[in-house]
Amino acid sequence: MAHASPYTAMDFYDVDALLTEEDRIVRDTVRSFVDAEILPDIRRHFRDGTFPLDLIPRFGEMGLLGSQLEGYGCAGMSYTAYGVICREMERGDSGARSFCSVQSSLVMYPIHRYGSEEQKRKWLPEMAAGRKIGCFGLTEPDFGSNPGGMATTAKTVKGGFVLNGNKYWITNASIADLSLVWARLDGGTIRGFLVEKGTKGCTPEEIRGKYSLRASDTSGIVLEDCFVPSDAILPEGVGLKAPLSCLDSARYGIAWGAVGAAQACFDEALRYAKTRIQFDRPIASFQLVQNKFAEMLTWITSAQLQAWRLGRLWDEGTHEPAHTSLAKRHNVEMALKVGRTCRDILGASGITEEYAALRHVLNLESVITYEGTHDIHGLILGERITGIPAFKG
Ligand SMILES: Cc1cc2nc3c(=O)[nH]c(=O)nc-3n(C[C@H](O)[C@H](O)[C@H](O)COP(=O)(O)OP(=O)(O)OC[C@H]3O[C@@H](n4cnc5c(N)ncnc54)[C@H](O)[C@@H]3O)c2cc1C
Repeated sequence: MAHASPYTAMDFYDVDALLTEEDRIVRDTVRSFVDAEILPDIRRHFRDGTFPLDLIPRFGEMGLLGSQLEGYGCAGMSYTAYGVICREMERGDSGARSFCSVQSSLVMYPIHRYGSEEQKRKWLPEMAAGRKIGCFGLTEPDFGSNPGGMATTAKTVKGGFVLNGNKYWITNASIADLSLVWARLDGGTIRGFLVEKGTKGCTPEEIRGKYSLRASDTSGIVLEDCFVPSDAILPEGVGLKAPLSCLDSARYGIAWGAVGAAQACFDEALRYAKTRIQFDRPIASFQLVQNKFAEMLTWITSAQLQAWRLGRLWDEGTHEPAHTSLAKRHNVEMALKVGRTCRDILGASGITEEYAALRHVLNLESVITYEGTHDIHGLILGERITGIPAFKG
């Protein structure tokens, strides 16, 4: 196939022809933005362990934050368009996609779905514009895959609630204007609380020394007798199913995002293989190397189709959480396999920051763990298939 653009070459089945015209415009806009604004500086951010904060209002201007939500300043795009945004963002870096996932699916979505009218009016337009940043505090030091065991408490007191506990591994907690903290209310049901930046007794603590997702803030949140007023509780989100519904939406974006990371690695390795000469020939001319590309193109194409079909299910409103688990689980593993294979094709050069493959691989080591590990999604699917939950044995 004679394609000028490496991206066209990679979309082997022309899966993007299945997108609407509107979704393709979103793709082209985000792709150009990532090329112009994220890729030129991502190595520095990854090296320094910083997030390009100045870009957040730009995300807002393009309607990328809460893009899948209607009203309150949100763009009201399709879920497929949201997936495309995630894919193009993660082609740049998983940190950029993680930012969009947290803001759109883990904070704006629960406010939109479970919040009061007042909470929606106060937070959604500001967050859609990128003027306010949110974080989602579910995981705790002792409760990751099993968030239902959480130890963080909310005690009802006069005029509000007092929160105590520790959240850990929270994306954006140190830069957030708003923390959505999940806690057990009066020793019983899990509820969500909106904790504004600067609230006494709520202290973020950045986690340092990460090899992965370095261009993304990851922090703990210490809650010590943290008082929040009565209107801080999300009135409609009751029980663990509320945060799990947010994770379902974020996992959906990951299923798409992983495709972008894999595509970026594939393009880079293909360009390299065509120009790297060994034994007097480009390495792309060796059968073993060609077989690697054949395998990777097959994996990527399968993942593209899964992401697209999942998008249709979400847009039709016929998806179930296990559908999302299947694509998140498959596509992230696929991206890791592609990233590692590309790193191998790059030889020694592949261990340097000159090339993106290892950065993507390192990032994907987080992506395969967060929002439900690979094996937890296997268990979700196992229960869906057999009707027997196997989480405890
Ligand atoms: C960079 C990063 C960002 C994150 N951002 C957020 C965020 O914004 N908000 C948030 O709330 N959380 C966030 N997380 C936390 C993430 O969701 C958890 O790390 C994840 O749920 C796994 O929990 P854990 O790390 O405690 O691992 P564990 O639950 O301790 O799991 C360890 C291992 O045991 C396996 N395991 C666990 N239970 C079972 C079982 N029943 N059967 C078989 N195997 C099992 C797992 O698959 C895994 O291999 C983030 C994590 C990372 C790395």
